[in-house]
Amino acid sequence: MVIFSGIQPTGRKHLGNYIGAILNYVKGQDKADPAIYCIVDLHGTTVQYDPAELRQRTRETAALLVAAGLDPERCVLFRQGDVQEHSELCWLLSSVTSVGQLNRMHQFRDKAGAARDRVSAGLLFYPVLMAADVLAYRANEVPVGEDQREHIELMRDAAEAFNKRFGETLVVPEANIPTVGARVRDLKEPERKMSTTGGTPQGTVYVDEEPESIVKKFKKAVADSGSEIVVRDDKPGISNMIEILAVVRDTTPAEIEREFEGSGYGAFKTAVGEEVAAWLAPVREKYLEIKDDTAYIESFLEVGASKARAIAAPIVADVREAMGV
Ligand code: ADP
Repeated sequence: MVIFSGIQPTGRKHLGNYIGAILNYVKGQDKADPAIYCIVDLHGTTVQYDPAELRQRTRETAALLVAAGLDPERCVLFRQGDVQEHSELCWLLSSVTSVGQLNRMHQFRDKAGAARDRVSAGLLFYPVLMAADVLAYRANEVPVGEDQREHIELMRDAAEAFNKRFGETLVVPEANIPTVGARVRDLKEPERKMSTTGGTPQGTVYVDEEPESIVKKFKKAVADSGSEIVVRDDKPGISNMIEILAVVRDTTPAEIEREFEGSGYGAFKTAVGEEVAAWLAPVREKYLEIKDDTAYIESFLEVGASKARAIAAPIVADVREAMGV
C-alpha cells in the first residue's frame, strides 16, 4: 500500500494539524510501502506571500515533521517544488477537471470570499495540484483532516474520469480521516475549526508552543453554561476538549466522559491543558533542537526528492503516453 499526504509550509502548525493529520503520517510509516509526505510549497504560492519566508517555513515544517516522529529513512519526505512531476501532472489533469467543479469547492469559496474574480488562478487550481500530488504516486490512502474530504472527492473524480477517457492508468485513492479528532475546534470560538488563518490566536494551540502558554489557553477555553462533561452537539467546546484528551490518551471519548463525570469545567480544562502540554513537549524540544540546522534539513529533503522523483517520473510518463503527449 502507498500512502501519500501533503502539508502546507505557510502558517504555524497547530494541534488540529497534529491530531487530524500528522499523527496518522507517523502511523503510516509502519503500514505503507512507501509512506510519502511532502511540504507543499507550491500550494503556498497561491496566496500573498514572501519568498524568503516561504523558503524558511518550508524547512521549519520539515523539521517539525521529523520532530513529530517522521523518519526520513523510513519514509519519503520531500519538498513539493523539488519534484517537477507535480506541476506537470497538475497541467495534464486539468483536462479532466471542470471549472464548475473547482468553483464549487468550499475551501476556494471561503478563501476567495467576495474577491472571487481577483484572487490568483492558482487558488482556483489548488485542488488540481493536490490531485496531482497524490495521483503521481498511485497512492491508495491519503491521511487528512475532515476539511480535506471535498478535495479528496475531486481527486477521485479526476482519476476516474482520466481512466475512463484514456484507459486504466491512475489509482483512485481513499481518504484516511481519523474517527476522533478529524476536526479540532478553536478553543475560543468552537463553532470554527482550529486554523492559523480562520481561527483565533488565543483559541489556537501551536505544536511548538511553550507548555505554560498551552495550559493557559485551555484554562481560558470557552465551555458553555452547563456543567456536564459529555460529547453533545450543543456543547462544541466541551466535546472538543473531550475528543482532544481521548486522542492524547489513546482512548475513547466515552472513557473520558466516565472519568470526569461530576468534575467541574475548571478542573477538566486544566487537566486537558496539562496533558496536552506534556504530550507536545518532547515534539517541541526536538523541533527546537533541529529547526535551525539548515544543512541537515536540506540534506534529508534532497534525498527525499530523489526517492520521490524515482516513483513519480514513470507514472507521469504513463499519463503522458496515455494522453498522446
Ligand atoms: P491548515 O488547514 O491549517 O492551513 P494544512 O492545509 O497544511 O493546514 O493542513 C494540513 C493537514 O491538517 C490537513 O490534512 C488538514 O485536513 C489538517 N487539519 C487542518 N486543520 C485541522 C483541524 N482543525 N482539525 C483537524 N485536522 C486539521
